[in-house]
Amino acid sequence: MSTKKDIRALTKEQLRDFFVANGDKAFRGNQVYEWLWQKSAHSFDVMTNLSKETREMLAHNFVINHIKVDVMQRSSDGTIKNAVRLHDDLVVESVLIPTSTRTTACVSSQVGCSLDCRFCATARLKRMRNLNPDEIYDQVVAIDNESRLYFDRPLSNIVFMGMGEPLMNYNNVLKAIDKITSPEGLGMSPKRIIVSTSGVPKMIKKMADDNVKFKLAVSLHSAVDEIRTSIMPFNATFSLTDLREALQYWYEKTKSRITYEYVVWKGINDTQKDADALVAFCRFAPSKVNLIEYNPIDDGMFQQAAQKAISMYTETLERNNIVVTVRRSRGKDIDAACGQLANKS
Ligand code: SAH
Repeated sequence: MSTKKDIRALTKEQLRDFFVANGDKAFRGNQVYEWLWQKSAHSFDVMTNLSKETREMLAHNFVINHIKVDVMQRSSDGTIKNAVRLHDDLVVESVLIPTSTRTTACVSSQVGCSLDCRFCATARLKRMRNLNPDEIYDQVVAIDNESRLYFDRPLSNIVFMGMGEPLMNYNNVLKAIDKITSPEGLGMSPKRIIVSTSGVPKMIKKMADDNVKFKLAVSLHSAVDEIRTSIMPFNATFSLTDLREALQYWYEKTKSRITYEYVVWKGINDTQKDADALVAFCRFAPSKVNLIEYNPIDDGMFQQAAQKAISMYTETLERNNIVVTVRRSRGKDIDAACGQLANKS
């Protein structure tokens, strides 16, 4: 590992200041910034509008840390999974999910995860560290390139549903989204970005105060405290009452619809009482519930509920005017589906 500073940790202002301090013009900073972000340059050599001396001076002072797609796997349904190597040799995964009209990038925010959801493969990896803004940004750029190459269109949507809990790496996630949405980065609309959280109440309120423009999804899975705590033990700390209060705050400030992710498991949350509790939990604001298919992660402790239970949920939600969709898994054959990201390759 190099001891030189990663140039991509600098803001545009800092880059401009660096050039001025070195007796050059501030706008060189803008040029370099454009190379680093808009053009995703991997080396100083390609920065052809700078003199050779300037490029050498930069290489003397800085490195450009860049992710590297180590392994790319393609599913029979078109889904692509990237195993992404970071500058310190740690690995995270990101996924490209194509439909007939969209390409969605599912990106990671941490190496591993500190939460302990019993049903999630990522939870079995210890949280090693937070991803830097550029490491999140690079995953998006890699998927955008793959989308152009294999599907002839740019990336259209981003979900923070890969490894990690985005709200426990909030500042870096926010900085990455700033770059993704900035015209000096990828220029994507924040409305096409969803940040998914297992529910960290304090950070949900902070997001509302920060007036963010992206969308929020909550991995709920149960609206009954005892049940939720048994499958998502951190619920003992961040209870449903606190979560709901934070979501209410979010809605009052943003007026932005909340999406809930929800898996129905046999013998865990598949009764009418569970569905009624879900309705009672999310009725306070316009909501959408995505019933996602369970992707088994080997130990057989959890099983997808019967179709009858799914229908009971959809009927109950629809009867209460809550939008509900049933989501089929994508990329299962390459362990790229929800909850399967575990660096197996
Ligand atoms: N930590 C954040 C981001 C991860 S998103 C969050 O929890 O929202 C990953 C999504 O997949 C979450 O909704 C999670 O609950 C869900 N998930 C985890 N394991 C799963 C599995 N085995 N099958 C289906 N969904 C799963």
